[in-house]
Amino acid sequence: MQTLRTLEALEREGLLTPDPRLATAAQSMAIAITPEMLALIDRSDPAHDPIGRQFVPSAAETEVSPDELLDPIGDEARSPVKGIVHRYPDRVLLKPLHVCPVYCRFCFRREKVGPGGEALSATELSAALAYIREHPEIWEVILTGGDPLMLAPRRLAELTAAIDAIGHVGVIRIHSRVPIVDPERVSGELVAALRPRRATLWFGVHCNHARELAAATRAALARLADAGIPLIGQTVLLAGVNDDVETLDQLMRGLVMARVKPYYLHHPDLVRGTGHFRVSVERGQALMKALRGRLSGLAQPTYVLDVPGGHGKVPIGPGYLGDDPDALWVEDAFGERHRYPR
Ligand code: SF4
Repeated sequence: MQTLRTLEALEREGLLTPDPRLATAAQSMAIAITPEMLALIDRSDPAHDPIGRQFVPSAAETEVSPDELLDPIGDEARSPVKGIVHRYPDRVLLKPLHVCPVYCRFCFRREKVGPGGEALSATELSAALAYIREHPEIWEVILTGGDPLMLAPRRLAELTAAIDAIGHVGVIRIHSRVPIVDPERVSGELVAALRPRRATLWFGVHCNHARELAAATRAALARLADAGIPLIGQTVLLAGVNDDVETLDQLMRGLVMARVKPYYLHHPDLVRGTGHFRVSVERGQALMKALRGRLSGLAQPTYVLDVPGGHGKVPIGPGYLGDDPDALWVEDAFGERHRYPR
């Protein structure tokens, strides 16, 4: 079975409800559903299935609101050199390519990613590495894209080694969906490519639902963890996918069991045509509050919002401190308030 890449292929698999707007939705972003993700979709109702909803195009993508943006997190505004985003002094994003194993309909880079998505040429990659070399304040390089694990292991090893050779870089971080959506790609050769000799490599896994942690995925994550690579989890809060406490509870526990520390729960960005995935901040805060009463700190992500315009991420609560002229009121995990002296 191959990755599904066209509306016709999705129709043959019984994943689509006919709608003339689907052609427009498919034009606005490439389609890719790997066999592993296809196997997880409930064919009886793909539009409401939490896995199907993430990858099957929807007519709702043609509805664009005035608040939605082409570049919702402001990558372009913070890009001094092609392929680099320098938002915070001590770290940069390096985007070697914009190809992914799947195309997530809510993607915050949906205007950029795709099979024809721009990849850095050898000259552009050299210029990006030179930028990192010339900025001694850069301590962390985050490889993202697209999905950096779509590079062949040999090219990934070369890139990791080139970054590792820059003495002031202490941490190389990789963000990927590959262990979830194409776990066999996490081969011994690929894991070996992720072992810089000097710097420390961290691996961020994008996972939105406990069902994504199937046996093959857990095995791929174990191969990374057994190689000594620390793993962190990133989840996007998505309406109809994971916006209820039981689903998030199971996901965070599943990640911890797979040796992945939940890191961020991302509030959905203002991506064009993704209003059907959006959840209010108040709802997100209520979910985080409910998780606080159910999960250990090990399983708690930080709920963050990427400020539009390229201003970076901020934690958006919920807050647990109330004010009063001579004391703080602290709310515990079960909603009870307690006085704490100033
Ligand atoms: S894998 Fe990541 S970059 Fe690629 S489409 Fe999905 S969210 Fe976007």
